[in-house]
Amino acid sequence: MEFSILIFILGSMIGSFLNMLIYRLPLQISLINPKRSICPNCGNQIKWSENIPILSYLFLKGKCSNCKEPISSSYFFVEVLSGGVFVALFLKFGLDTTFVLYSLLFSLLILLSFIDLKYKAVPDYLLLMALFLSFFLPNFVFGDALMFAGGFVLLDFVVTFYIQNIKSRITNNEELQNQKALGEGDIPIVAIIGGALGLKLGLFAIIVAAITAIFPALYGQMKHKEIETPFIPYLFLGLFFVLLFGESIYMIDVN
Ligand SMILES: [Zn+2]
Repeated sequence: MEFSILIFILGSMIGSFLNMLIYRLPLQISLINPKRSICPNCGNQIKWSENIPILSYLFLKGKCSNCKEPISSSYFFVEVLSGGVFVALFLKFGLDTTFVLYSLLFSLLILLSFIDLKYKAVPDYLLLMALFLSFFLPNFVFGDALMFAGGFVLLDFVVTFYIQNIKSRITNNEELQNQKALGEGDIPIVAIIGGALGLKLGLFAIIVAAITAIFPALYGQMKHKEIETPFIPYLFLGLFFVLLFGESIYMIDVN
């Protein structure tokens, strides 16, 4: 129990670092200069006492201590999420290399998810890092990774054909003629899921991702705006959920 608390603190500190990366990497701001984070609104340097994961956000009531401009709640959310993910992985695997590898992978996936949510695009080098890291996961099956990546490309081809040639004519919307169905950035993540979980559980994870991604899409339809739903956050959810609970759900099914 006490050890779980330590792991949570470690995870939230990693989350705090991820927050810096989420902010700096897409804007191509150096990671070492400025050394300390600054308020994006007033440029005030953030003191170390204001940079304690989770707690500082609560003490500052989500506002910059200098200009009182609200700080995005995603900072707080990333720290809590990272802490929670680390504890869940620790409870599942114990403190071994599997835990370390999955912690690194999920840190990258949190980073990718939040950049995807913010910009609807992610840097390729982060995808490659995640893919390369996944090769070292225990029981990683290359064949399954390739099958999932290939399946995803085929699905993208079919759905894109539908959108560009059928849906665009039905709805008389010429903009759709240039729209792609799925993001290219999703392919490496889908490959990671297939390789790490295998065919059966991997497919389960993709279904979980697709079902959870329906909700924001429906919300967009209700509000009558065509929003592009970033898919990486949902793939992250699917992989995380099935990695932790997939096998036990199948056990219930069998018995
Ligand atoms: Zn400020």
